[in-house]
Amino acid sequence: MPKGWCPNLYEPMKAADGLLVRIKPPSAKLSATAARRLAQAAGQFGNGAIELTSRANLQVRGLSAEGVAPFAEEIVAAGIADRNPAIERRRAVIHPPLADEDPAAARHASTIATAIETVLAGDERFARLPAKFAVAVDGGGILPLGETGADLRVICAHGRSLIAPAGAPLAAEVTEGDVIEAVVRLAEAFLDLSNRCASQPRRMRALVSDIGCAPFFATAGLYNLAPVSPLPSPRTIGWLAYSAYSEGMQGGFGLGLMFGAMTASLLAVLADLAEEYGDGTLRLTPWRALVLPGIVEHDAPALRERAARLGVIVEPDDPRRAVIACPGRPGCAAASVDARADAALLSNLILPSILHVSGCSKGCAHPGAAPVTLVGEDGRYGLIRNGRPGDMPMLRGLTMREAIDALGISA
Ligand code: SF4
Repeated sequence: MPKGWCPNLYEPMKAADGLLVRIKPPSAKLSATAARRLAQAAGQFGNGAIELTSRANLQVRGLSAEGVAPFAEEIVAAGIADRNPAIERRRAVIHPPLADEDPAAARHASTIATAIETVLAGDERFARLPAKFAVAVDGGGILPLGETGADLRVICAHGRSLIAPAGAPLAAEVTEGDVIEAVVRLAEAFLDLSNRCASQPRRMRALVSDIGCAPFFATAGLYNLAPVSPLPSPRTIGWLAYSAYSEGMQGGFGLGLMFGAMTASLLAVLADLAEEYGDGTLRLTPWRALVLPGIVEHDAPALRERAARLGVIVEPDDPRRAVIACPGRPGCAAASVDARADAALLSNLILPSILHVSGCSKGCAHPGAAPVTLVGEDGRYGLIRNGRPGDMPMLRGLTMREAIDALGISA
């Protein structure tokens, strides 16, 4: 498997529980009908386990080799993937989840996101971009995307259009009509400059760290620069009011999934709830949460109660939100620890901060830094504070009990 390779609908990844495929629903939106078809296919051809990724994609697990083609056929028929494998492989845009609903968000952000995806996926030159190269389009409003681990961040807010490379303190400011062209030029500049770098960086953050952002903007011919700062993380769980109507407020309802995981049958029930209470769609977010839009205020308590009964996270301060974990064993062959079982144990304790339990140093669930990261090594854990899963642990060889003691966590 080449370095940096990513699975997609047509190119599954081998995992310990079978083959895993990744689905990228257009505009990060699922109609209730498409969600039910996906759920049915995930149960029929896979093991029924579905995961929401940090790029707002879906992973379906446990497929057999014979099941991949009929599963893909069903997903294309449901309208949530392209029939062309080359295009599907290159679709890598993180869409604003509510830009078409939230009046405070830039409505054109959704259109821009789709146009960028079409241009980058349809142009053969960009087949040379690393598989993990992604563009996030942030429309602001109640659910701004913020950093989300993308290589380029397009910010459409307050009447301005900014394009910020990951790790750069500056963004190129362009007119709304020039956004697509500017993204294309920056993607070309990335290919050009990363090829010329001795280290051949595969992510924007690494390239900017190597050469700085000035040569990067100059290569792209973009000289109108403006400072950018990270946006605060949005509240994603529970009632998210975004507009008034004659009888009160209307909004979305954020439903959190522990570890971003759900069963196919849960997805089918959530699709029913989206139809019963909302506008009949489910929006995928990069925050281990789905949002059902078009909910009227007086229906929110009933939806909260029904979703909570399903085990879905409906309160923003639910302690399960504080723990991030990849599948670990037995789902992933690279793991030596059952990361999710250990993380579930930790979520019952009083955690001082966000805690990431990673099956190995790759850090699939959260490649970035976390206040505390426990990394599986040979069946035990390494402890990293304020670092990434690949960093050197300050303590190693810990049992889970020893890790809990080292963190001073109480029950
Ligand atoms: S972080 Fe390691 S153990 Fe966890 S899913 Fe990724 S490769 Fe597997």
